[in-house]
Amino acid sequence: MAEPRTPPGRPARCPICGKPVHPSHRPFCSPRCAEVDLGRWLTGQYRVPGPPAELEDDPPPSE
Ligand SMILES: [Zn+2]
Repeated sequence: MAEPRTPPGRPARCPICGKPVHPSHRPFCSPRCAEVDLGRWLTGQYRVPGPPAELEDDPPPSE
């Protein structure tokens, strides 16, 4: 697994909140931010195959 190269003296930033990344939770700063990222996947902010969660951009046709 390739790791992104980080310049010395300049810690990576959490892509979610911008805080310094915690080594135990890379590439995030905390488990919470990791969950946020996962949530984005699950809620379709990233395009993934599968049924939509609770999006309202495709309402059922009404009579
Ligand atoms: Zn964070």
